Amino acid sequence: MPDKHKIKELQNQIDLIDNDIISNLVKRKSIANQILSLKKELALPYYNPVREEEITNRLNILFKGKIEKKFINKIYQVIFKDSIKNHLLDSQFEIKNVWQSIESNPIIIAGPCAVESKKQINKIASEISKYGIKLLRGGAFKPRTSPDSFQGLGDKGIEYMRNAADNNNMFVVTEICDSSQLDKFADQIDVIQIGSRSMTAYGLLKKVGEKTASTKKPVLLKRGFNATLNEFLLASKYITDAGNPNVLLCLRGIRTFEQIDSKMRFTPDLSSILELKDMTDLKVIFDPSHSTGNAKYVKSVSKVALELGADGLMIETHYSPKDALSDSKQAILPKEILEIID
Ligand code: PEP
Ligand code: MN
Repeated sequence: MPDKHKIKELQNQIDLIDNDIISNLVKRKSIANQILSLKKELALPYYNPVREEEITNRLNILFKGKIEKKFINKIYQVIFKDSIKNHLLDSQFEIKNVWQSIESNPIIIAGPCAVESKKQINKIASEISKYGIKLLRGGAFKPRTSPDSFQGLGDKGIEYMRNAADNNNMFVVTEICDSSQLDKFADQIDVIQIGSRSMTAYGLLKKVGEKTASTKKPVLLKRGFNATLNEFLLASKYITDAGNPNVLLCLRGIRTFEQIDSKMRFTPDLSSILELKDMTDLKVIFDPSHSTGNAKYVKSVSKVALELGADGLMIETHYSPKDALSDSKQAILPKEILEIID
């Protein structure tokens, strides 16, 4: 006969284990802080993805068959993030290659919608790099809905992006829209962006995969705003099958009937974060700027995206949002990004 007292007794045992878990986490954090202080004194990078991988691999081997690998990896993702979060903004934290940036947690990509001038992109890069942000976004080739809207500075825009990134120890994340742009600029771009409107340009996706097969530089693929999750994943497969496994999936809002009277430009596809994290190992980036189209909502949507497990955010920022030549309604001030990261 099952016994209610037995349940209580087992629950008491669980309570004691929970005490141990949290007390060990507190101890772990204190030791991690000591390590970070030493690294700071020695001017070593705080973030060490190799060590993190060693830790989870060791635990996965030790507890094989007793606990799911995915579970261990998830728990440690949170623990690692918590250990380092207060140190990431330290100005001493210098990332030397784009991979360290991509592995940082969360991955923050920020910058204006479009490169508008050499001065504009330099000013924004200089400000956000002070917050520890390493991935500078900015469109040189802008696929605008209306042919009458500002189309970007084109070739000059790429030159200004490269210059601003180099001046501020950052990496260039920018969109290319066709294969001639890819041939011309692939070497100057650190993370190649494929926009929402190009998600089904399969020839381009294949070419991007082939062109980056040797360098394996990251490709940021944005979800077509009318694409299903499967279509999105199949689009990413064009790139991975062509030889580059390093695709970052970027959710950027979808078109739904909400747009009949919603104040948002698209419907933020937040629940897709949960599903993508179950469907793929690729990193998932959320774009709160295009998905809401409204600066007022960027901060709260960003927080939710991270809570739901997004690996990072891509945020549009401008020192004078109202003067931005494109997407001015959704740009936030650089210092507001700091509030999000904090
Ligand atoms: C962008 O991020 O610059 C952009 C144009 O977004 P999307 O392709 O998602 O519309
Ligand atoms: Mn934009």
